Amino acid sequence: MQRITILGATGSIGASTLDVLARHPEKYQVHALTAHGRVDELAAQCRAFRPARAVVGTAEAAQRLAQLIADLPTSVEYGAQALCDVAASPDTDTVMAAIVGGAGLAPTLAAARAGKKVLLANKEALVMSGQLFMDAVKEHKATLLPIDSEHNAIFQSLPQSYARQPGDSGVARILLTASGGPFLNRAVDTLEDVTPEEACKHPNWVMGRKISVDSATMMNKGLEVIEAHWLFGAPAEMIEVVIHPQSVIHSMVSYVDGSVVAQLGNPDMRTPIAHALAFPERIESGVGQLDLTRMASLQFHRPDYQRFPCLALAFEALRDGGTAPALLNAANEVAVQAFLDRRIGFRDIDRVIGRVMDEIAHGAAASIEAVMEQDARARAAAERVVAGLARA
Ligand code: NAD
Ligand code: MG
Repeated sequence: MQRITILGATGSIGASTLDVLARHPEKYQVHALTAHGRVDELAAQCRAFRPARAVVGTAEAAQRLAQLIADLPTSVEYGAQALCDVAASPDTDTVMAAIVGGAGLAPTLAAARAGKKVLLANKEALVMSGQLFMDAVKEHKATLLPIDSEHNAIFQSLPQSYARQPGDSGVARILLTASGGPFLNRAVDTLEDVTPEEACKHPNWVMGRKISVDSATMMNKGLEVIEAHWLFGAPAEMIEVVIHPQSVIHSMVSYVDGSVVAQLGNPDMRTPIAHALAFPERIESGVGQLDLTRMASLQFHRPDYQRFPCLALAFEALRDGGTAPALLNAANEVAVQAFLDRRIGFRDIDRVIGRVMDEIAHGAAASIEAVMEQDARARAAAERVVAGLARA
């Protein structure tokens, strides 16, 4: 029996994870479920999966949840420390890290430091803490498996020898595919007028609102380049972004002999979730078999950095190193929220990030405290830029 904690159970990834778990009750048992504010949904999940512990964001939310599930054996907790506790608990083997944004860093790191099997969906956590996170995984003998569909595809396409000796494994490049999001072909001069509803309407995937906006700006791909850098120890030059609007090939690895190995499948996150849960075995995920004969065509082209300046900003942050990716991530989180709240326009997102990156000098990412300090400074600076743009 694998005992699982799901951080961010009420989100898109959280719900897909529970869907896969429900298909294999003999293999998996839910230890803890966490959510920020959606108490009713969490209560329904507790009823269905009967976890030992449930964590919410505030005392009020905890009180409501406790009332809703008073007849269950689940103990209710709240707050940041409780998230870290359920992630590091001796009663859990595996932690699905599916909180969105920097809020997920502390509990994801706590899981790594406790030597858990960490299934990483929360890419922002790794973007912020990079080397520190990977060092914690190594030091505490945690197992890190990627949930992001591209990284899961790369993981599946790499040779077994890569983890031991990446230099001798014959890998030439990592080809990170990107759908290009909803604005791949929209006239560039109309991007100023995009609404949150339009930005959240992804052509191939149904996801949370933050990652949906990130996909529309292609910051999502930028964060994924940084994520790939850390997960696979690959320098920026080795990672190539390829636009593939159909999202059927989830990413590829090319080799020195000219071979390209790819992972394909229907665009449904239950496939990478099931892969990581059962690794190295395979389990049924609920995703149907891919019917290649129904695919009209598969297209590939290079990204347009004029249309998607966020992608260029992310490559820049990766090359700058240190706390630069943490600054990028923090500014992006603030800008995306401001856009969703209709305080700034769509194109203002990259303006906010660009200005914050210019304003704040990045430093060494020597400790998590140093990273969090830079994160806080970048958020404050981004709020100031947002306020200025909102007044303009
Ligand atoms: P979502 O918005 O649907 O869900 C987010 C979850 O995090 C919710 O359970 C919410 O309660 C919780 N949460 C939000 N703020 C919190 C806070 N301050 N403290 C504690 N918990 C908080 O998001 P999602 O689409 O499921 O994405 C989750 C993560 O997975 C993101 O990092 C995203 O980039 C990544 N990811 C998602 C997809 C996808 O298909 N949805 C694919 C790849 C990667
Ligand atoms: Mg992805």
